[in-house]
Amino acid sequence: MSGAPPVVMRLVASAYSVSEKAGAIVRKVLHSGELGIVEKTGANDLQTLADRLAQQSICASLSKHFPKITIIGEEDLTSEEVREDLIDSGQAEEIFQKTCPAEFTDVKEEELVVWVDPLDGTKEYTEASKLLHLCTQPQVPLKRPDTAQLHTAALWLLDNVTVLIGIAHRGRAIAGVINQPFYNHQLGAGAVLGRTLWGVLGLGAFGFELKEVPGDRRIVTTTRSHSNKVVVACVDAMEPHEVVRVGGAGNKIIQLIEGKASAYVFASPGCKKWDTCGPEAILQAVGGKLTDIHGNSYCYDADVKHMNSAGVLATLRNHEYYTSRVPPSVLQALM
Ligand code: AMP
Ligand code: MG
Ligand code: MG
Repeated sequence: MSGAPPVVMRLVASAYSVSEKAGAIVRKVLHSGELGIVEKTGANDLQTLADRLAQQSICASLSKHFPKITIIGEEDLTSEEVREDLIDSGQAEEIFQKTCPAEFTDVKEEELVVWVDPLDGTKEYTEASKLLHLCTQPQVPLKRPDTAQLHTAALWLLDNVTVLIGIAHRGRAIAGVINQPFYNHQLGAGAVLGRTLWGVLGLGAFGFELKEVPGDRRIVTTTRSHSNKVVVACVDAMEPHEVVRVGGAGNKIIQLIEGKASAYVFASPGCKKWDTCGPEAILQAVGGKLTDIHGNSYCYDADVKHMNSAGVLATLRNHEYYTSRVPPSVLQALM
């Protein structure tokens, strides 16, 4: 083959590279201790300096190199000039080792839509920061848990944090990148933190080891910070053997593809297109499925509404079992 790789592969290679830069921003802001928290719709819907800088970095970098692509980011930011040091021009070479699926070789730049969640799991990120700050405070006896416990809890929360970039074509999520900035923290000081998972429909997904939940155990993963009665009723209706409550949409898809959960069930309208586009593409690239709670697909065209109003149901296998278990009252609540 001669000439430049198809635009889909070049875009994935750039998204991979800038997601690593965004991950580094997320780590740097945490370590500065100055999170600059802003409440968006309320105390359970937060934005930090890391969300703002990471989005500026991703959106400005991708639009510089792909000016005809529509890019939609989660955060509402003023259109001020983006600092030069936030612009990334890298392209991950490993993407070019693979062949673009025939179906996407002729896709044009202007036909692509990119959905960006610069920091998924902001709630957990801010909670982790508070715990890490507490660790630095004097331990008056019985006033707080010991430092080692606080530190472990903070690291657990940071595992929930991801950077999400989804690529859509004709309404379909066709490729995605997930950067997990704090991956490998358990290796201790000196470890290189972070990893990047990516996938393209028809090509597969990379950067992790695909595993399934053994046997036919039903392990349901759901929100830890945005629950309500309907969310709980729907999880219970799956008759799970175990429920895994973790933060972040990206992190919950990682639970599915790494064999830690068999279904992601969220019967609530809180998730948005930038939460699901990238993760959905990666999940689908390994044979999984993400739909609303009724079993219908979401559309990722540029003009769709941002809210995933009918909830999220994602699985690696046996999607029909889970959709068939959703109670009528839940279906009605999420029309
Ligand atoms: P969670 O599973 O609660 O971590 O949520 C996954 C994604 O959906 C995160 O980006 C959340 O910010 C978002 N989300 C879910 N529910 C809500 C809600 N009620 N309000 C705002 N954002 C939400
Ligand atoms: Mg999110
Ligand atoms: Mg976010």
